[in-house]
Amino acid sequence: MSIRINKDECIGCGKCQQVCPGSLIKIGDDNKAYIKYPKDCWGCTSCIKECPVDALRFYLGADIGGKGSSLYTQKRGDILKWIVVKFDGSRIITDINTKESNKY
Ligand code: SF4
Ligand code: SF4
Repeated sequence: MSIRINKDECIGCGKCQQVCPGSLIKIGDDNKAYIKYPKDCWGCTSCIKECPVDALRFYLGADIGGKGSSLYTQKRGDILKWIVVKFDGSRIITDINTKESNKY
């Protein structure tokens, strides 16, 4: 597992940096985010949920059966879309209503 940042997409807003509980993400001199301590990332996914331009991807490696698939999110109103891009290019999309997600 690892977080990867597409620097071509990153607009340097710093939201990922603000929410990372381990302070692992920094903004470089180029005004692009980078992960300073990638080995310390425990995959909480907080950063990918905040990125407004989908520049962050969570790579699902072979260690958890992901075979190089990746995960990102898109927010549409109250709906948070969890999008898995599988290694063959197909997608699995799960919509979560954030207003309902903490109800049991
Ligand atoms: S997944 Fe969590 S721990 Fe890892 S870089 Fe993102 S916010 Fe930090
Ligand atoms: S949240 Fe996204 S756009 Fe903003 S700094 Fe992080 S990677 Fe870049």
